[in-house]
Amino acid sequence: MREAFDALGGIATFIKPGNKVLLKVNALQSAKPEQAATTHPAIVKIVAKLVKEAGGIPLVGDSPGDARAHISKVLEVTGIKKAAEEAGAEILEFQKENLEVIKSPSGSKCVPLINISKVVLNADVIINLPKLKTHGFTLFTGAIKNLYGCVPGFNKALYHFQAARLDQFAQLIVDIYEIVKPTLNIMDGITAMEGDGPGAGDPKHVGALLVSTDAVAMDAVAAALVGYKPKEIPITEEAAKRKLGISDLSKIIIEGESIASLKVNDFKKARKNIFYILHYMPVWLRSILFPVILALVWVKPEIIQEKCTKCGTCIRSCPTHTIHQKHQKVKVDPKKCIMCFCCQELCEYKAIRLKASVIAKLIGVGQ
Ligand code: SF4
Ligand code: SF4
Repeated sequence: MREAFDALGGIATFIKPGNKVLLKVNALQSAKPEQAATTHPAIVKIVAKLVKEAGGIPLVGDSPGDARAHISKVLEVTGIKKAAEEAGAEILEFQKENLEVIKSPSGSKCVPLINISKVVLNADVIINLPKLKTHGFTLFTGAIKNLYGCVPGFNKALYHFQAARLDQFAQLIVDIYEIVKPTLNIMDGITAMEGDGPGAGDPKHVGALLVSTDAVAMDAVAAALVGYKPKEIPITEEAAKRKLGISDLSKIIIEGESIASLKVNDFKKARKNIFYILHYMPVWLRSILFPVILALVWVKPEIIQEKCTKCGTCIRSCPTHTIHQKHQKVKVDPKKCIMCFCCQELCEYKAIRLKASVIAKLIGVGQ
């Protein structure tokens, strides 16, 4: 970590004594560090220590995917609480703090006003600490997507509903990036998550620790390490289109290891979803075809009853309230499902699998 900071001119370049420095971790759910769903506590600890050494005041915070999850429990299980305490950092719970309503910088019609936790906006310096993972909806989640946690509590589920298409959701996430704009991004890509990320995938060793002032460039490089082209990732593409960073790998200056030396060739990517196909259609065609295609080509969540503990997380987190518990069984009503995959993302017991329609299987969506 010290070497990485030195390559960028040292930590003092970014932090002045007395600065309130927010470490925005990925505390998606109560998962142990070895499950690779959350930022590893070792990263949190060293960054908080370095912030203190530079005279800054380290604060550690997030808002988990399940708004009713107790962040204190999440931080305890993930090891982040202990790491923060050992480094002398204060823990912040975004959903307990006040929020500010900010106008969408891109003029989004789906989510024109975005709620952001005030502690995020009040920090002097934001250090973004994402985890390298696959994502069922956005294919990949890294630095830019990690900032969705700056939206407190239930608003996240609501926005999923309002920005249901992938292009709409990418626009929202990049809006949040434009508002928050971290000073520094440090990605934990040492043990990444492959397959059914961001919550139900498997740990995969990549061995990369990435540090950059440009989250777009960082995501482009991280995605390349696991076999994606930057253009394949809608969030990266949207951010580059808005000139918020560089996504062209040939223009990114890489110090340290090369992409080729760290690239993992057998990394299991996220399953493609129908939103991905729609994303590459012209907007007018997309609007016409959206409902028709969704009726034919779908991938919907299904509860694996033997694994389900009836914890209720998916029921609380579904933006369309389409998951219910009846006769001791948790069930999804597929008619109202908008395929945001929040339920699968947040189920700590890997009790939700994705079931594809026949046409979806035939064209390779949801495989
Ligand atoms: S499917 Fe998962 S999240 Fe939903 S109730 Fe069962 S265990 Fe909990
Ligand atoms: S059932 Fe799952 S995938 Fe469908 S809308 Fe609810 S949370 Fe999203």
